[in-house]
Amino acid sequence: IERTFSIIKPDAVRRNLIGQIIAKFEENGLRPIALKKIHMTREQAEGFYAVHKERPFFGELVEQMIASPVVVQVLEGEGAILKNREIMGATNPENAAEGTIRKLFALSVGENSVHGSDAPETAAQEIKFFFSDDELV
Ligand code: ATP
Ligand code: MG
Repeated sequence: IERTFSIIKPDAVRRNLIGQIIAKFEENGLRPIALKKIHMTREQAEGFYAVHKERPFFGELVEQMIASPVVVQVLEGEGAILKNREIMGATNPENAAEGTIRKLFALSVGENSVHGSDAPETAAQEIKFFFSDDELV
């Protein structure tokens, strides 16, 4: 059984969408085995998105992620990594399929409501970045 890491981003938390987004995961067989609401520091956001450091949108992305609180979660289920990516939809909401979180809720390619790990290695890294083993229940 697979685990992935998910963030409900500031734009969605501000609009009171935590429950509706978690419902999408649960309806699709993903179980939150750890979750917490945090206000990311600049250091955390820059570290988490270090892979995008050289991209033109890096500064804007960090500012958006630290503007207000987020919900970080570990989701568990069969094929959790790919399933989560399907439930989220394409990065740009204009390209996201009907019924996906980003189609339903995202404001723009930057403020796109959710993050999800893209591969087993990044999922493991990202889970460790925010959670200790004893928090995964
Ligand atoms: P995520 O990693 O957040 O789950 P993703 O894998 O679909 O999303 P990435 O290419 O990894 O997208 O980009 C990470 C995040 O950076 C995106 O979710 C989005 O918030 C932001 N981003 C990506 N491309 C752009 C862009 N062209 N303009 C502004 N922000 C962007
Ligand atoms: Mg990504």
